[in-house]
Amino acid sequence: MFIPTRAAGLEALHDFVPHAGVDYSRDRNRDDGPSRSNVSGLSPYIRHRVVTEREVVTAVLARHRLGAAEKFVQEVFWRTYWKGWLEQNPEVWRRYRLEVDAFHAGGLPAGYEEAVAGHTGIDAMDAWVRELVETGYLHNHTRMWFASIWVFTLGLPWQLGADLFYRHLLDGDAASNTLSWRWVAGLQTAGKTYLAQASNISRYTDGRFSPAGLATTARALSEEPLPARTPIEPEEVVGTIGARAGLLIHEEDLDASSLLAGQPGLAETLVATAAFADPDERSPLGASSAVDAFTAAVVDDAAERSLDSRGRPAVVLAGAAASWVLDWARSERLDTIVVPYAPVGPVQERIGRLRSDLAADGVSLVTVRRPWDSAAWPSASRGFFPFRERIPALVRDLAE
Ligand SMILES: Cc1cc2nc3c(=O)[nH]c(=O)nc-3n(C[C@H](O)[C@H](O)[C@H](O)COP(=O)(O)OP(=O)(O)OC[C@H]3O[C@@H](n4cnc5c(N)ncnc54)[C@H](O)[C@@H]3O)c2cc1C
Repeated sequence: MFIPTRAAGLEALHDFVPHAGVDYSRDRNRDDGPSRSNVSGLSPYIRHRVVTEREVVTAVLARHRLGAAEKFVQEVFWRTYWKGWLEQNPEVWRRYRLEVDAFHAGGLPAGYEEAVAGHTGIDAMDAWVRELVETGYLHNHTRMWFASIWVFTLGLPWQLGADLFYRHLLDGDAASNTLSWRWVAGLQTAGKTYLAQASNISRYTDGRFSPAGLATTARALSEEPLPARTPIEPEEVVGTIGARAGLLIHEEDLDASSLLAGQPGLAETLVATAAFADPDERSPLGASSAVDAFTAAVVDDAAERSLDSRGRPAVVLAGAAASWVLDWARSERLDTIVVPYAPVGPVQERIGRLRSDLAADGVSLVTVRRPWDSAAWPSASRGFFPFRERIPALVRDLAE
C-alpha cells in the first residue's frame, strides 16, 4: 500500500490534493477498509519527513483556499502540535518508556495476549488487529475506536496498546501515538475521555462492524502530576560547526535538501553525508518486520538524494550504534556531525547517547531544527484549540 520512496509520497500528495477541500471535510471520518481513498494515506511519508508538512500544506493551499481546506490543514498541524507539546513535557515520554519496559519485563495483564493475537471475540477489534499487522496502517477514526475499546471495554493498560500501535504502524510516531492514546484515556485533556459506541462504528464503517458489549461509560484515568514545562530551545542551530562537518540524517527527518535550504550556507560546508536508523528502538519488543523494511527503504531512498558538497550520496551506516558513526567520522576526518533535530522519542535518546561518545573522540554534535517546528512548537504549550487559532498566521509565515 505504501511504496517507500519520496517519489511515491509526492505522487500520493498530487493525487490527494484535489480532494483536500470539501471532500475531505465531508468524508474523512468514514473508514471503508484498506481500499479507502477518503483520507490521504500520507502519514508514513510525513512522519519520516520524506515529504514535509510544509510541502503538503503548500500544495493543498495552491489548489484550495484555507477556508475550504481548513480541516485538512488542521489535521496536518495536529502532528506539529503533538510534537511541540511532548517536547515541552518530556516526562510523559520518560514514564511511558519505563512503564512499557516494566510490563514486558513480566507484568503483562490478563487478556493482553488474546488482544494482540486478535482473539478478543469482539469482531471489529480482531479485524483491526489483523489490518494493523498486515498493512501497518489504521484509519484515524478506527485508531480512536480501537484505543477506547482497549482501555474501557477490555480494561487493558493504555501503554501496552500504544506499544502495539507503535511497533506496527509505518507512521509510528512517539508524540502522535503516545499523546493520542492518552487523549482517549482522559489523561491528555483532564477528565475528557473518548467513548467508542457501536452505532458510531456501524455508521462510519458502512455497517461492516457493529460490536456488542462495549463499555457504556469511560472514566478518565489519573496519574501523578507532571513537572513544570520545559521551554523550547530558542536557537534553531545548536552547537558550533567546525572546519570538517558531516551531515547525519535519520528516520525523523529524511529530506536533507529542504532542511539545508532553511539554513543558508550550511550545505556548502558539508564534506560528507551519512544516514542511520533503528526502528527497533521503538519498543522492548522491537518493531514489526514491515516497519523495519519500510524504514530501511525510505532511508536508502533518502541517502540517494542527500549529497555532500562534492556530490556524493550519503553512506547508509550498517547500524545505529555509536561505533558505526565514530568509524564514519574517523574515515572522513570530521570534527563536527550535524543532525536534523530529533524530537522527544527514541531517536532523541539515541542522539543523546551519541553526543557523549563523539565528544570523547573530539567530534562535536550540532542539531538543526526546521523553521516549521521553531515557529509552531512554542504555541503547543496548552490545548489544541488555542494552538488552532495560530494556524492561519503560521501558514502565512511558513507555507510559501
Ligand atoms: C490512538 C491513536 C494513535 C495514533 N498514532 C499515530 C502515530 O503513531 N503516527 C501518526 O502519524 N499518527 C498517529 N495518529 C494520528 C492519525 O490517526 C494518523 O496520522 C492518520 O490516521 C494518518 O492517516 P492519513 O495520512 O491518511 O491522514 P489524513 O486524514 O489524510 O491526514 C493528513 C495528515 O495529517 C496528520 N494527521 C491527521 N490526523 C492526525 C491526528 N489525529 N494526529 C496527528 N496527526 C494527524 C498526518 O500527518 C496525516 O498524514 C494516531 C491517532 C490515534 C487516535
